[in-house]
Parts: sequence; structure tokens; C-alpha cells
Amino acid sequence: MENRYDVIIVGARVAGSSLANWLGRMGKRVLLLDKAGFPSDTLSTHFMSHTKFLEELGVLSQLEDTGLRKIQRMRTYIGESFIEGPRASYTIIPKRDQLDYALLEEARKYPSVTFKSQTTARELLWEGNQVIGLRIEEKGRSYHVYSDLVVGADGKNSNIAHWVQAETYNQTNPLRPVLYGYYKGVRPLQTPTTEIFLHDGRIGFVFPMEEGRDCLGIEIHPDEFKEMMKSPKENFELMFHQFYGMKERMEQAHLESKIIGTPGMPNFFRKAFGNGWALVGDAGHSKDPSTGLGINDAFMQSYLLADAIKEIDEGMTWSEAMQEFEDKRDQQLLPGFQLTLDYIHSLKKWTVNEVALFQSIAANPMVWNKLVPHLGMHLEESTSEFPLFYTAVEMEAETFGYKKD
Ligand SMILES: Cc1cc2nc3c(=O)[nH]c(=O)nc-3n(C[C@H](O)[C@H](O)[C@H](O)COP(=O)(O)OP(=O)(O)OC[C@H]3O[C@@H](n4cnc5c(N)ncnc54)[C@H](O)[C@@H]3O)c2cc1C
Repeated sequence: MENRYDVIIVGARVAGSSLANWLGRMGKRVLLLDKAGFPSDTLSTHFMSHTKFLEELGVLSQLEDTGLRKIQRMRTYIGESFIEGPRASYTIIPKRDQLDYALLEEARKYPSVTFKSQTTARELLWEGNQVIGLRIEEKGRSYHVYSDLVVGADGKNSNIAHWVQAETYNQTNPLRPVLYGYYKGVRPLQTPTTEIFLHDGRIGFVFPMEEGRDCLGIEIHPDEFKEMMKSPKENFELMFHQFYGMKERMEQAHLESKIIGTPGMPNFFRKAFGNGWALVGDAGHSKDPSTGLGINDAFMQSYLLADAIKEIDEGMTWSEAMQEFEDKRDQQLLPGFQLTLDYIHSLKKWTVNEVALFQSIAANPMVWNKLVPHLGMHLEESTSEFPLFYTAVEMEAETFGYKKD
């Protein structure tokens, strides 16, 4: 049948295009659709410290060839002092119109993948309690398409999740508003470095993109959002100038386009599958963007779903394979989710004493000489309520030669 596919995917950004890519390799007949046209931007910064998936999806080298800087260092400021070090892996900051389009074009190379832009999913088609397809609207024309599986890769406000009434769990309301913009001409550090400013309970960030262009952003307090958005550029820059060195470094800088703001991202998991449907990306799991994990998490979910479909082809029952998909998803995403919520909940306005002490310590090698031999113990003690955090640091340290006792 002409309108019949193995899998229909609603949403063609990081979750949808990556899934189409993996299913295309398996020769699956895929219909990938999105109400947006491409290339196009979306509400998101784009810090990506996990480049493994980009490589597997075949887009890493072409993204790097566009002139994106490879960022190997991270600097965290408190007051006028900072800590800086190398990261275990490098980071790139591709803009979403660029990243999403590269992923989409790669997926479209597979002959069994059909893509329709400016095409909206309007309603699910059911046979009893089984989803069997969709009614879609393509540039004003409404018609039905059918498949064994309809996947919602349609973002945090997923229509598919809403229509199947997917159960939501571990839910927390948005915690922090985020504002960001693209600036040209910010005076750079000598080596491309991700800069994080922990200031007054806010998180500021400088993400170096191509030479001469940076993504600047701030996670602010919820009660500041309304006032900030009255005059976003002026208020954003006033706040940014409070971060150490940024007033001077922004003297020759100018904003490209405008400051974009959101009151925050919801935090939740949704049931990942049901009869004839599944969810990937933000549709299945969303969280505060402060830890920059959303895009990688979307890839990971698509990878797990493609793997489940492969297992069904190899003889595993549908319900067993899909349950395994959901279990693995939760197992892999829960630690990052908890780390993110803990990070935001424990952000605070430093007291004058805390900042003063940190500054005097930061500039005193004799103190570091005393502290470094005991850092592991201090960290373990102060994160005893939250062992995951310690494990994450240990894992990164292992790449620098750390060996557990
Ligand atoms: C301010 C902010 C900053 C962020 N910063 C980072 C960061 O630095 N690093 C990081 O990893 N993550 C970040 N994230 C998170 C990241 O943006 C998301 O995790 C990611 O976009 C999820 O991708 P997705 O493909 O699941 O959904 P989306 O990117 O939301 O795409 C969903 C697509 O579905 C389409 N769609 C929706 N409904 C329909 C329909 N009915 N019919 C057809 N199409 C439909 C939409 O048009 C859209 O193109 C940030 C998020 C925000 C809000």
C-alpha cells in the first residue's frame, strides 16, 4: 500500500532524524515528518560534549568542517576567581539549524526514508486500543498514513504523548528560566574554553562557536523572568557585565538577532511505549538544560529504540523488546536527571564570606598544597547523600589516569 510504512516518526530534529538514520540503515520503510521547514532554528542552546553519537550518525566531520571550535577546557568562576581544567572529551557548539539539518540530510540518504516537511500530525488512527497510523496535513492536503509503529519525536509538548495519554512520572515543574543570544566580537580567551559563571545563584555561560562568535546565556531566578523580558537585551547585558571580566570583553561585541528567553523546561519521564506507539527525545523525557544533556539523551533514546526494533526482527516479542527499551532508557537517563535537579536545587547566592574565602584560597598555592591530597575525601564526604555525583567525577578522572584504590 502506497501510504503504508514500517515506522512513522513525527518530528525531524535530533530525536526524529537520528532514529530515521538508524532505521534507514536497517532498510525500514520510514516516514519522517515535521510541521517545520528545514533548515530552521529551534529554542535551544547546543553545548555538545558527547560527540560519539555525532560520529556514529555520520555528521561529526562535516559539522567540524564548518569552522566550529573544538573546546577542550572548562572554566568555572566564583566571584573574581576561577578554576579551569581540561575535559575528558572535547565539546562543539553547532547551532541547531545547522545540526538538525545535517542530521536530517544524512537520514534522507537512505532510500527507504521518506521525509515530508511542513507536514503536521493531526490525529492518531486507532483499531481498538492499537495505534495504526496518523491523519496528517501536508501543505493544506489532509490524508491518512499507516504503520506498525508511530513514534513521537515531537518535543516536550508532544501531541503523540497527549493523544495516547502517556503516563508521566518523576515530574517537577520548570525550575529556572533561561535567556540566551549569539554575540560576535566578544574578546576570546587564548584557548577556546567553555566558561561558566556561578554568580548570585544564577548560572552564566559562554559557549565558543566559530571563531568570533559565541553563544552567551544565563539561567536566572524564576521571579526575575518577567522583568528581564521587558527589555531583554539591555537586562541580559547588564546581568552579564556583572560576571568577572565580561564588561570589558563585551565592549566591542554585538548581538546577532535577539535575546531568546524561556520560563524553563519541564522535568519529567513519560511512559516510553504502548500499543503501536513510542516516544523518543524530549517527548519521552525532558529536563532543565543547565547540564546540556538533552541532545545526547535524544540520540541515546533513538539508538535504544532502533535496537529494540532490531531485536523484534530477530525474534524477540514486541512487548519484551519495548519493555527492555523503556527499562534501559530509564536506567541510563535517571542519573543525569537526578544530577541536573540536584545541581539546580543546590545553586545558591554565595555569602560575602564564602566568596571572600574562595578568592583568598584560589590565589594561595600553599592552601592548594594542603587541599589537593584530600580532595577525594572532601568530595566523597560532601556528596555522601548523592553518590552518583562522586561516581561521575571519578569516571572523568579515570580518563586522566585516576585509579580507584
Ligand atoms: C533554552 C534551552 C537550552 C538548551 N540547551 C541545550 C544544550 O546546550 N545542550 C543540549 O544537549 N540540550 C539543550 N537543550 C535541550 C534540547 O534542546 C532538547 O533536549 C532537544 O531539542 C530535544 O530534541 P527533540 O528532537 O526531542 O525535540 P525538538 O527539538 O523539540 O523537536 C521536535 C520537532 O517536532 C516537531 N513537531 C511537533 N509537533 C508536531 C506535529 N504535530 N506534527 C509534525 N511535527 C511536529 C516540531 O516542529 C519540532 O521540529 C536546551 C533546551 C532549551 C529550551
